[in-house]
Amino acid sequence: MGLIAAIEHVIKKPIWDCQMCGQCVLHDTGMTCPMTCPKTLRNGPCGGVREDGHCEVKPEMRCVWVKAEDRSRNMPLLPTVWREHFNNLRPPVDNRLKGDSSWKNAISGRDKETPPGWTPATEAPEAEAKA
Ligand code: SF4
Repeated sequence: MGLIAAIEHVIKKPIWDCQMCGQCVLHDTGMTCPMTCPKTLRNGPCGGVREDGHCEVKPEMRCVWVKAEDRSRNMPLLPTVWREHFNNLRPPVDNRLKGDSSWKNAISGRDKETPPGWTPATEAPEAEAKA
């Protein structure tokens, strides 16, 4: 882990339980780290969320995505544009970036690269047909 990644880890681990995925989407998720979801879903919740809003894998834990949706609507001081980002379709996590600094990858644009064949919903043929 490089120096910048180490600094990021020291800051973000205690606050958001950051798992150092290297492609941060906290601004999309009401400042809730999706990598703490046992399924590491970047879009959620899955179909297994319990009636009480808890996780099907870890019943003692509130679903990360239920929390993210709640926070994206109700967290004070969250910029409006970040609240709206909750509805974005996030690409699959790129595990090659695990352990990297997401700050560094945001500056270089590496965190925006998507796997071959992945097309954002806004560019998919159906989306173009509806436009
Ligand atoms: S960098 Fe990745 S693991 Fe860390 S808080 Fe952001 S989304 Fe979560």
